[in-house]
Amino acid sequence: MKIDSISNGVVIDHIRAGKGMELYHFLNLDNMDCSIALIKNAPSQKMGKKDIIKIDTELDLDLDILGYIDPNVTINVIKNGERVEKFHPQLPQRLTNIIQCKNPRCITSVEQEIPHIFKLTDREKGEYRCIYCESKAKN
Ligand SMILES: [Zn+2]
Repeated sequence: MKIDSISNGVVIDHIRAGKGMELYHFLNLDNMDCSIALIKNAPSQKMGKKDIIKIDTELDLDLDILGYIDPNVTINVIKNGERVEKFHPQLPQRLTNIIQCKNPRCITSVEQEIPHIFKLTDREKGEYRCIYCESKAKN
């Protein structure tokens, strides 16, 4: 795989330097068998340094999760060697098993098998609340 040219896939650009590995794990990229490049500390005019992730396959990932981790990343969708789409991720409506409820009386603290689900309650503030006990997620 040439780092600069992927034919069909996704390039996640403008990742804050040092955050690339975190995104890599959040997207479960270890489990994919396509070519993936994680570029660390690439020079950036805007940011000084940035990380970039290039994924050389058409994927069906929930990229909205990136909006929670770093809304400033740019997602480029590549088809047949050309960029067909470029956007910033939105804050996802729901976070499932991304953050954990800290309320010791919450059912998710008592019952281990229950998924930790938070819903977006204030998009402007980026505020999430546990769907079971309404506790606010700490940013
Ligand atoms: Zn809760």
